[in-house]
Amino acid sequence: MQNIKPISDPARPQVYIETYGCQMNVNDSEVILSILQDAGYALTEDIEKADVILANTCSIRDNAEQRIWGRIDQFKIQKKKRDGVVIGIVGCMAERLKDKLLEAVDLVAGPDSYRSLPELLEAITPSAPQINVLLSHEETYADISPVRLDRNGVSAFISIMRGCNNVCSYCVVPYTRGAERSRDPHTIVMEAEELFANGYKEVTLLGQNVDSYFWKTPEGEAGNVNFAQLLEMVAQISPDLRVRFSTSHPKDISDEVIYMMAKYENICKHIHLPVQSGSSIMLEKMRRKYNREWYLERVEKIRSVIPDCGLTTDVIAGFCGETIQDHQDTLTLMEQVVFDSAFMFAYSERPGTLASKKYPDDIPYEVKTERLNEIIALQGRMSLKSNEKEVGKVLKVLVEGPSKKNPDELCGRASSNKMCVFPSRGEKAGDYCEVEVVSVTSATLLCKRI
Ligand code: SAM
Ligand code: SF4
Repeated sequence: MQNIKPISDPARPQVYIETYGCQMNVNDSEVILSILQDAGYALTEDIEKADVILANTCSIRDNAEQRIWGRIDQFKIQKKKRDGVVIGIVGCMAERLKDKLLEAVDLVAGPDSYRSLPELLEAITPSAPQINVLLSHEETYADISPVRLDRNGVSAFISIMRGCNNVCSYCVVPYTRGAERSRDPHTIVMEAEELFANGYKEVTLLGQNVDSYFWKTPEGEAGNVNFAQLLEMVAQISPDLRVRFSTSHPKDISDEVIYMMAKYENICKHIHLPVQSGSSIMLEKMRRKYNREWYLERVEKIRSVIPDCGLTTDVIAGFCGETIQDHQDTLTLMEQVVFDSAFMFAYSERPGTLASKKYPDDIPYEVKTERLNEIIALQGRMSLKSNEKEVGKVLKVLVEGPSKKNPDELCGRASSNKMCVFPSRGEKAGDYCEVEVVSVTSATLLCKRI
């Protein structure tokens, strides 16, 4: 493994990549760049210089896709300016729309076909656009060393699995990313070790449902690795390397994982635990395989073992048939748990999903928006409440760089993933600092040096 940094070389064909959607897509763009660099391409951040323009796309909600269609029109301006410019759409939207996209661009490649990108690019002619949207049961890109596209050289993503087997009724991911498969743990540890050797201080292990990570060896049970064991293997690389992970599924997060987090100081005390709804009726229709009581029990367990654990979530407003009572159930659950922060969305029907076939998308746009706004406003109050509990605490922060508002201050995250801002004493990105929380906003902990 090598390849950590992007190559910039004007003599090579230039590739420009825009990434949309989740952290997994960010990491996929790093894999794509690694494959293309090995095939002779170099990265450019200037679209005006690009020979190949790629958008790594997201299909999770309709507005994510609409944005890409708008971008394709802008990419086409580059084609008019320079001969031979190639436009490619890769990722989830490529997988979902296949030939329909091929009418608009030169290249369409799904999430499991990135190894074939050099051959596809080679084969493109004005009359022969290229497509590969085959999904795989094995592909994990385990042997590919991603070229890091982060800016600070401190924190990196590592994909530990791909795909999803859950089929939540609203979700398009199982159709665009295929079946779940786990990656060889030894390649994950090697990647984390290499990052640490290159100065990185934090890795985030990524999967749609990390708790179902499972590596089965032919040698028999003793060699098998579950997610808790994988966490331990990565945590043991160095106490100075922080380990994060995302996303946990409430139905699968195990006591073993919670106790493993408590055992290692460098496994960050933060769990992203998407609830989606506080109503057991909605959760059943969403096929989440847990109910309100189960979710609240998991939160209680986490807090009994790790009292200061950061907890964040995802919420969907206005799913099919959602009543005022269902919506109220979401609000009361949010008030009961007091999440640190949340990603909040209005339900967007996705073609091909179980919900689109079984349940009418019957909550009017205005009602969805009104409920979403209520959820967002409540979360703002809950974030402030959660942050206020931090006042007076001493926290260990990993410096990410200067704060955006004041160059004499630094910013970085506490173990809980809360953002801290504090006066600089000349530290740089990647250093650890101890600070004391003095005051807070709903988004930030304002700290002093100790
Ligand atoms: N695998 C993760 C999980 O199960 O929690 C989440 C993956 S998904 C990329 C991220 C979030 O998008 C989901 O947690 C959900 O809140 C939201 N989402 C997915 N499908 C949606 C839809 N059709 N409409 C609105 N939000 C959606
Ligand atoms: Fe989608 Fe559910 Fe899989 Fe998450 S667990 S990716 S929400 S199907």
